[in-house]
Amino acid sequence: MEKIDHIGIAVNNLEEKITYYTETLGLKLLRIEEVPSQNVRVAFLDAGNVHIELLEPLSEDGAIYNHIQKRGEGIQHVAFKVGNIEEKMSELKEKGVRILSEQPVPGAGGSKAAFIHPKDSFGVLYELYEKSGKGE
Ligand code: ZN
Repeated sequence: MEKIDHIGIAVNNLEEKITYYTETLGLKLLRIEEVPSQNVRVAFLDAGNVHIELLEPLSEDGAIYNHIQKRGEGIQHVAFKVGNIEEKMSELKEKGVRILSEQPVPGAGGSKAAFIHPKDSFGVLYELYEKSGKGE
């Protein structure tokens, strides 16, 4: 794992929360995009050495919607930046760690993502996050 790339926060209204993060907390909004593979719309904010990813469900389906139903809004996952996601996935699988998907899924900004089973990380949902060449 290279570093913590971002912290994923489930929200039920992206615009409302962006206003809080930018105007009240003073963070810079980097971009907003839809990630159909994960059924969410996301906003990335710059918090210095780490980004904050706000995730709003696009419909009543998917991990973010379920998180809000079960636990309310709040921290949903922590993302580690990795160099080569396929290698990291097989390395972890060899160590007996369960990954929630067989293959990486397309993430925000052309990235690739996979999630470690939260039971194997003692209640924390960790994302493996390989960035695209764009540098964000
Ligand atoms: Zn994420």
